[in-house]
Amino acid sequence: MYGQAGRKQMYGREVKLVRVSTFDSRMRERDTGSRNPGAYILRRQCLVFFLVFMTMAALSLAVACIFKEDIFGSRESVVVMGEESLSAAAPQAEFFTVSANDIVVSEEETAPPVIVIDPGHGGDDDGCCRGDVSEMTVNLQIARRLSEKLKDMGYETVLTREDDDTALTLEQRVEIAEAAGGELFISIHQNACEEKESSVTGIETWFSGCPEKEEGDNWYCSCCDDSRRLAQLVQMGAVSQTGANDRGLQQSQELYVVRETSMPSCLIETSFLSNTAERNAISSEEYQEQLTEGIARNIDSYFHPKTMYLTFDDGPSEENTAAVLDILQERGIRATFFVVGENVRRHPEIARRIVEEGHTIGIHCNRHEYDEIYASVEAYLEDFQDAYDAVYEVTGVEAKLFRFPGGSINAYNEDIYEEIIQAMTERGYVYFDWNASLEDAVNSSTPEQLLQDARESTLGRKKVVMLAHDIVYNTRVCLNRLIDQFPDYKMEPLTADVTPIQF
Ligand SMILES: [Zn+2]
Ligand SMILES: [Zn+2]
Repeated sequence: MYGQAGRKQMYGREVKLVRVSTFDSRMRERDTGSRNPGAYILRRQCLVFFLVFMTMAALSLAVACIFKEDIFGSRESVVVMGEESLSAAAPQAEFFTVSANDIVVSEEETAPPVIVIDPGHGGDDDGCCRGDVSEMTVNLQIARRLSEKLKDMGYETVLTREDDDTALTLEQRVEIAEAAGGELFISIHQNACEEKESSVTGIETWFSGCPEKEEGDNWYCSCCDDSRRLAQLVQMGAVSQTGANDRGLQQSQELYVVRETSMPSCLIETSFLSNTAERNAISSEEYQEQLTEGIARNIDSYFHPKTMYLTFDDGPSEENTAAVLDILQERGIRATFFVVGENVRRHPEIARRIVEEGHTIGIHCNRHEYDEIYASVEAYLEDFQDAYDAVYEVTGVEAKLFRFPGGSINAYNEDIYEEIIQAMTERGYVYFDWNASLEDAVNSSTPEQLLQDARESTLGRKKVVMLAHDIVYNTRVCLNRLIDQFPDYKMEPLTADVTPIQF
């Protein structure tokens, strides 16, 4: 869930809401005095027409809901909404047709997410204080700046306290967040060491993990996925903009406000007040601006992730591919496997598992021998057919996607690649190259090097096809950390509908 879907009670029955387009930059660019993009679009459009059709839609819907058992049975309906639909549809009548599978809802559902910001401490509890700097005051300053930035981006914000006189219990903070219908909760704090002065510095972000999970590579758990991702984004944004020491993610069951809030939540400790340099920095306007800019930007990424297609070549192998599949399953991520025919016949159960678990299976080659495959166009087509048959016989999948060994243009196929591409395209196959890579086939890199190569090669692109190899041990070793370093991306499997990345 990336904040784009949710469930709401509507007219007494549960429906699934799917935002075709969440609020977007249009509302940021044009200040209409309203935070409701749907309303804004509709004002621009023919308002009279809209009112007429909304009345009709409401009437139809009311009638439909009265007879819902007869009409709908117990089926769940999908509601499609979004300003694009609205602006495109008004004043066309079809948009408002109510059927069993498409119920139209009002523009209210496009209201921006509410983000609850919780400045820690307040009242008699001023937090950790060093020199003339009081934690509660710094927390509130940062919370206000963050709130302003988020509002400028079109979000709605709620602060749990607006001044330093207000004292709140932890329970009250959670109650405020819940009452506000918050979609995210961020608590702001400062750190300090026992000693009056200390060299310890940096930023750390906490989230509430599962009690039974321990720290380490396996502490991921699907039930705290959203909070973890939020914490990663907040931490990354804060560190990248300030250049502060990165103390990383922390998880704890002990922090009441992040544990008890029902929405994804985290708590950031933005500095050590026990370090003079950091205390001076965090008290300055400029540093607070950088800090909150980084956090706000990455909160926006939370709602609007970029897309990454994880692709694994050369498998399946018995142990490594199984381990890769375990991780992907645990993290609810679907990827793409460009398989080698011979390996599919060698490990049919793994090939079937790839398909059963919802990943895309594509063709790489039958025998991974460049000299043989690229000897001629015919040789290539023959090898491809062998791999295709293996995949079909073992998994039942009629593969549509493929990846050239070595990429579509390489040192072995220079003379014939155009012909091969033409022949394959005529047969209806789609090939994918890549635009980022772990470089895990090239050298025997350490997991750390693979992670660095992956990170550096994405270049912040909006759409990344990441090349990896599921037969490489170190790739599997670093896969959890690989996924962790891209909280600003949503991982998807390739399909024939995705516009290919080609060299
Ligand atoms: Zn604190
Ligand atoms: Zn390969």
